Amino acid sequence: MSFFKTMNNLGEQEKSSDVLQKNDGEKIRCLIIGSGPAGYTAAIYAARANLNPVLYQGLQPGGQLTTTTEVENYPGYPEGVTGPVMMEDLQKQAERFGTDIRYGIATSVDFSKRPFKVAIDEKTLLIADTVIIATGATAKYLGIESETKYAGQGVSACATCDGFFYKGLDVAVVGGGDTACEEASYLSGICNKVYLIVRKDYLRASKVMQERVFNNPKIEVLFGRNTKELYGENGVEGAVLIKSDGTEERISISGFFLAIGHKPNSDPFKPYLELDDVGYIKTIPGTSKTNIPGVFACGDVQDPVYRQAVTAAGSGCMAAIDAERFLAE
Ligand code: NDP
Repeated sequence: MSFFKTMNNLGEQEKSSDVLQKNDGEKIRCLIIGSGPAGYTAAIYAARANLNPVLYQGLQPGGQLTTTTEVENYPGYPEGVTGPVMMEDLQKQAERFGTDIRYGIATSVDFSKRPFKVAIDEKTLLIADTVIIATGATAKYLGIESETKYAGQGVSACATCDGFFYKGLDVAVVGGGDTACEEASYLSGICNKVYLIVRKDYLRASKVMQERVFNNPKIEVLFGRNTKELYGENGVEGAVLIKSDGTEERISISGFFLAIGHKPNSDPFKPYLELDDVGYIKTIPGTSKTNIPGVFACGDVQDPVYRQAVTAAGSGCMAAIDAERFLAE
């Protein structure tokens, strides 16, 4: 059996946009959607291969790394580098070789035949010979009512963006992975106290991150707790937690930071591309090729396992090389 379902059933699937019914769009040889390490690396390679890439930055120019602090594990930076600086450098490098970088979001696509149609912001039509999807992933929320109620008033999914507003206050971070530990460590440098709310009785984070958290006197890890609700008159003043024995516990906090993982940004491509159960785009192992020849995926949108800046960059390089070879054929 083929790794992917065949293209035969693609025609039956939905097409979402009026823009896609038109035929007079801008013609592009290599369209890159997304501006994280994967997108920019694909752009650097595609530009140097004379594919005249056009890159659309998406909702979060620079991607997830713009919301992180210090990156210490990207090769070539012995002293570390901040996420935003690294992304600025990557953008400049992509521009240096002629990448056309634009604001805009790919809202729907028609991959049923080549050249491919892509609608930007539901109003601009692009006609692309090859498409490289590097749309990354987005932070998840718990789904409790008070998260929405206090959005922007104490609830955040980005400590680097919003931590400053909680200077000297008590806050909580939810999650037990590397992101949660990193966010808790970052916030401990700004806030008075940081609770780390972990639903299991252990951390999933790497050993080095765990040690950093356990050795930080400002961080208190609350194992075996789920968040029931947040409360407060004007913004968040506290959280009600449920312990594993079913009893409730209240903590006083002014800020509540989510760090419970991410959802791949693959929705616009769903009608055409093969996705896994979570929504990650499936690629042929060892390549960036999707089930549609000429459409490639790289970075976190296709990587449920490694999800690192350096692996994203590596897969961006693969996507550009795959696109170049596809066009050459
Ligand atoms: P992970 O998926 O690794 O961890 C998510 C955490 O959130 C888990 O502890 C999970 O709990 C918890 N969680 C999920 N849903 C809920 C919920 N509804 N309620 C409470 N807790 C919940 O995501 P991360 O974002 O931490 O990391 C993603 C990847 O990025 C990983 O591979 C990580 O190693 C990497 N990373 C690396 C960094 C670095 O090296 N500097 C920094 C940040 C991330 P449970 O364990 O119970 O499932």
